Amino acid sequence: MAVYIGSEIYQRSAFGHNHPLSSARQETVLDICRILGWLDDSNFIISPKASTTTLTRFHDQNYVDALKAADALGSVNIDVRKQYNFGTMENPLFKGVFDRAATTVGGSIEAAKRALCGKTAFHPSGGTHHGMRNRAHGFCYFNDPVYAIFTLLDAGLERVFYVDIDAHHGDGVEAAFLNDDRVTTLSVHEENRWPYSGKMEDNSHDKNGGRINLPVPQGLNDSEFLYIFNNLITPTCETIKPQAIVITCGADAIEADPLSKMSLSNQVLWQTVMALKAETEHLVVLGGGGYNPWTTIRAWVGLWGQLNSYEFPEILPDKAQAILARFDSDLIDEEDRLPEWITRLEDAKTLGYIRDEIKRRVDLLFALR
Ligand SMILES: [Zn+2]
Repeated sequence: MAVYIGSEIYQRSAFGHNHPLSSARQETVLDICRILGWLDDSNFIISPKASTTTLTRFHDQNYVDALKAADALGSVNIDVRKQYNFGTMENPLFKGVFDRAATTVGGSIEAAKRALCGKTAFHPSGGTHHGMRNRAHGFCYFNDPVYAIFTLLDAGLERVFYVDIDAHHGDGVEAAFLNDDRVTTLSVHEENRWPYSGKMEDNSHDKNGGRINLPVPQGLNDSEFLYIFNNLITPTCETIKPQAIVITCGADAIEADPLSKMSLSNQVLWQTVMALKAETEHLVVLGGGGYNPWTTIRAWVGLWGQLNSYEFPEILPDKAQAILARFDSDLIDEEDRLPEWITRLEDAKTLGYIRDEIKRRVDLLFALR
């Protein structure tokens, strides 16, 4: 059985109108799951908020204190802004930022606890994979995947596999576990894209795991992703034999995301998560990026449906269509919006040619094992 971890805190406005994360992604995923009859009190868990003591286990006390103080004050001075990288366009200061970020951490800890009890835990508000120990980074204030992994390690697990299929490199999580051979991190991300780390030369895996980075060229299609899955992700998983898997399943690698240029369909993301689910007893599925509200919401609603083996409707119910139709986005031109973004959950698969460069990189990483 799967459990969904969420909170009303994500209904409050956040990030500010012009920010790519200002859209009401989280509550809409919840609303549509409820309309489909996929969510009720029996499988929904309210996310707790992580305490300051918990937050300082990974993050520096000074940074945690500074974010809390700035949130209470409603402003940040220039020195604090420079030192901790919040109060910027990228990581704006908004009312309730501290509680929201602390709730995301609490949610991922709860997700890992549920996974340890044998449930598949879905926490789409999680996946703030860029958060650094001492500063905000890439729309992330704290790093909740790190805490999901801590919780699994605290329970005595010794082989945890972190898989990051967001369009951006999972730099914060990788940095947190560089020197911990109990954790293998694997990130597939678009090359030459912010944060510009996770290059082919940034690989250091051996039989104990390590860090694996596969940067991919723009336009990665489903066929190419499946090649990567079958020839890199699956063999790595078979080598590690993970006791638990944590996935950051950002939706920004799906075609038509305004902040990246990959071309996956939501179906390949679902297929990946379901295949990894079969490899472990303890699975934590987090969200991540996703800046096209229509593709992101449908990807995560569908992911929840897949995790529960729910039957997918051919056409979304009118109420769900009405919610999606009301959405707007300054980042996506009206003529680029597809009618099926309103009517259906599944994207059309993006099958195509597998470029030699991708095969070459996958083979190189495979050989390093
Ligand atoms: Zn991303």
